Amino acid sequence: MSDAAGLLILGSSQAGVQLAVSLRALGYDEPITLLGEENHRPYQRPALSKEYLQGAITKESLIYRTQEYWDEHRIDVVKNERIIRIDKRSDGSGVAHSMSGREFAFDRLALTVGARARRLLLEGVDLPGVLYLRNADDALELKARAPVVKDVVVIGGGFIGIEAAASLARMGRTVTLLEAGPRLVGRAVGEETSAYLLEHHRARGISVVLDADVRRIVAGGDRVAGVELADGTTIRADLVLIGVGVVPNTELAESIGLACDNGITVDRWAIASDGVTVAVGDVANLPNPVPGAPEGDRVRFESVNNAVEQAKVAAYAITGRPEDYQGIPWFWSNQGDLKLQIAGLSTGHTRTVVRRDDERGKFSVLYYRGDAIIAADCVNAPLDFMAVKAALAARASIPAEQAADPSVQLKAITVTSSGEHS
Ligand code: NAP
Repeated sequence: MSDAAGLLILGSSQAGVQLAVSLRALGYDEPITLLGEENHRPYQRPALSKEYLQGAITKESLIYRTQEYWDEHRIDVVKNERIIRIDKRSDGSGVAHSMSGREFAFDRLALTVGARARRLLLEGVDLPGVLYLRNADDALELKARAPVVKDVVVIGGGFIGIEAAASLARMGRTVTLLEAGPRLVGRAVGEETSAYLLEHHRARGISVVLDADVRRIVAGGDRVAGVELADGTTIRADLVLIGVGVVPNTELAESIGLACDNGITVDRWAIASDGVTVAVGDVANLPNPVPGAPEGDRVRFESVNNAVEQAKVAAYAITGRPEDYQGIPWFWSNQGDLKLQIAGLSTGHTRTVVRRDDERGKFSVLYYRGDAIIAADCVNAPLDFMAVKAALAARASIPAEQAADPSVQLKAITVTSSGEHS
């Protein structure tokens, strides 16, 4: 690598920040440029739909690192530059061109460009008062509007939709949540968990419509006034928030010939198809790292945990000592007073065990493939979450019959691979 250009990380995301930080921690000495298109210093997103929206924390507390940190670690943080073209040579070096006309030379490229909110193609989506929530500017707008509106319609019952709906309901807004599918968070949790979330949020005043077929967004004067469903119902709204999933930002990768299939295809060390370029985070499609995953299975994780862990794997690869992905995928979602934690991946499960303790407000679903535990959704049940995560990491088992009793501590019945209780 030449001294002049070094590593160019495109995307000041959780993955991009972690990659830069991990590289310096590993003693990587080449120049690092961390470039983002937003006009903000690198910031964290999870609080945008929760603590930040509800006013519990300030904008400043979302910022990852101080300028002193970046200076001290010789990481050149560039903001407000959108890369529109990349010229890349076969050795992995090249030049990235920004919309403003600047050029960023690199010896090696890392793509941590994430995903963007999927747009709904509907009449009325461009009306003032119709918002998305993906980045800090979206959050600033939503936070400014929220106190001055009364009726909110949220389209999409995934993580963004439910978290924002729960925050807005807590702030005293009247909230209707419209989900196209037959259950909430259908992509990420099982049926029992979806049913529990539905019961919980309805009990806290959110009006949830499942199988909702949204036809158009209705104007009142020059602003949004409601949402019309296919059955002719119109739900009043002075604010509409859309959270209907994300699309990975693969266009730049495709333009330089990298293989892409639901994300940028990478190997287990986060290296793309050219053998040099790195891709990490929401944009990367990687071999499923869960122990015991089916051969050839690939996943694209949209989670903070993956952005962090995969960035560490990439940092090791860049510094020439490839290490395998450590740890079990996990995920959390705070929805008002409900804290959902997910360990592992439930895909391919053959049975479930539900642990429900209404007195303590705890609820968990354990997922098994045959006798092997593969995942758990845990609501306000951190001990269950930790026990399953630890069991997955140790390839230990948690006998389903005993686990069905919610008064039993999962840690106490975990059996390690050598047959001992943990
Ligand atoms: P998501 O989790 O994919 O959920 C989108 C939901 O919208 C799905 O339930 C989908 O239903 C529904 N939907 C799609 N089209 C619709 C339509 N026309 N009308 C009504 N509903 C529709 O995505 P998201 O909630 O937008 O979240 C965006 C990203 O942010 C994801 O990557 C998510 O993981 C991330 N995020 C993470 C957290 C967290 O980690 N706690 C919090 C917020 C956001 P179908 O499945 O039936 O299509």
